[in-house]
Amino acid sequence: MTPPVLLPGAVVDGRPATLGVLGGGQLGRMFVHAAQALGYETVVLDPDPASPAGRVSHHCIQAGYTDADALARLAGLAHAVTTEFENVPADALAALARTRPVAPAAQAVAIAQDRIREKAHFARCAAASGVAPAPHAVIDGEAALAAAPGHLLPGILKTARLGYDGKGQARVATRDELAAAWARLGRVDCVLEQLLPLAAECSVIVARGRDGQVVSLPVQRNLHRGGILAVTEVHEGNMPPALASQAQTATISIANALGYVGVLCVEYFVLEDGRLVVNEMAPRPHNSGHYSVDACDASQFDLQVRALAGLPLATPRQHSAAVMLNLLGELWFGAAGAPRTPPWDQVLALPGAHLHLYGKAEARPGRKMGHLTFTGASAEAVRANALRAAALLGIEPF
Ligand code: ATP
Ligand code: MG
Repeated sequence: MTPPVLLPGAVVDGRPATLGVLGGGQLGRMFVHAAQALGYETVVLDPDPASPAGRVSHHCIQAGYTDADALARLAGLAHAVTTEFENVPADALAALARTRPVAPAAQAVAIAQDRIREKAHFARCAAASGVAPAPHAVIDGEAALAAAPGHLLPGILKTARLGYDGKGQARVATRDELAAAWARLGRVDCVLEQLLPLAAECSVIVARGRDGQVVSLPVQRNLHRGGILAVTEVHEGNMPPALASQAQTATISIANALGYVGVLCVEYFVLEDGRLVVNEMAPRPHNSGHYSVDACDASQFDLQVRALAGLPLATPRQHSAAVMLNLLGELWFGAAGAPRTPPWDQVLALPGAHLHLYGKAEARPGRKMGHLTFTGASAEAVRANALRAAALLGIEPF
């Protein structure tokens, strides 16, 4: 049965309409901002007493994601619940779904959590979408290791579960390296993927409503450094139009085939020969979609709120060209490793600069502390200002 629409500002069961989120990181924080702007109250569940989202939410439950009492309190406060990270135990979502609308559903999150199931889903969708995953093999034991096809080398061995930002991965060139890497990764279930010649990377964010309506943000072109997203560019000419529309169509078919409700991001590789390959998906808003907060008339977080509440998903329109720079913890250290505050006054003097800091107390190298989006009338203008900011901050040019 389709749950009723949760109208912003409504009083439901004697309490203001409240949206809950599992996870209190920056994605949860921006979800909370979007929900509050519409007039919802919010509740965040996170084990960290000072989580970025918990600090800005009406209610915050400090507990682990499998704590049954905490999940019951969350269901007591929230009229609908979403998640901000894919490694939330699918059981927690399933437990909440017994009493509250939950989007995305546990079953979709469970597929996204597991590269083996995720790639199987992509392969099933490839017939309709024309976009296949990289050639790969499942490594789930000694027999599979011995039988790994030679054409997958050189390749990348990735753990099936719990990988992010390039963690849980090893590049392997020979069978010996493959065996050593699998041992180093703890002999857990893995996927061995052929190392592909990448010309570019891109991603597509869609939102799908309970009624099956799907809307899409424009295709994002992404630059990764050291396995972590560094720069996202979204403007005319960022991608060949035929590839962009192929990626959008493929993403919609991946979401439809899951019967997905909520915001979904799918990442792609563009190969040197121009082919598109589907890499992985995130069952939530994504770092590559942060530009939409400043450059689109509905952000990925607005869409997450609408999909969760059962509100209509108006098609988002990008009104400004955008370049986003990720702000990693190393920027908080100056010469000789001395802690510093980056020169935001100089950065904010540049036209079209939008600074977003996540309120994390401690900076560590590689930690996502915030992002900086430049908006403007043209690709040239936003690129020029983003490059000036990169030079001021000590970010490598792109
Ligand atoms: P995320 O933080 O996006 O979840 P992740 O750790 O799950 O990242 P992937 O997205 O699988 O990992 O890989 C990280 C990066 O490594 C990719 O963005 C790409 O630059 C590179 N990479 C991954 N797989 C391949 C491949 N088969 N061939 C070439 N490069 C690859
Ligand atoms: Mg990735």
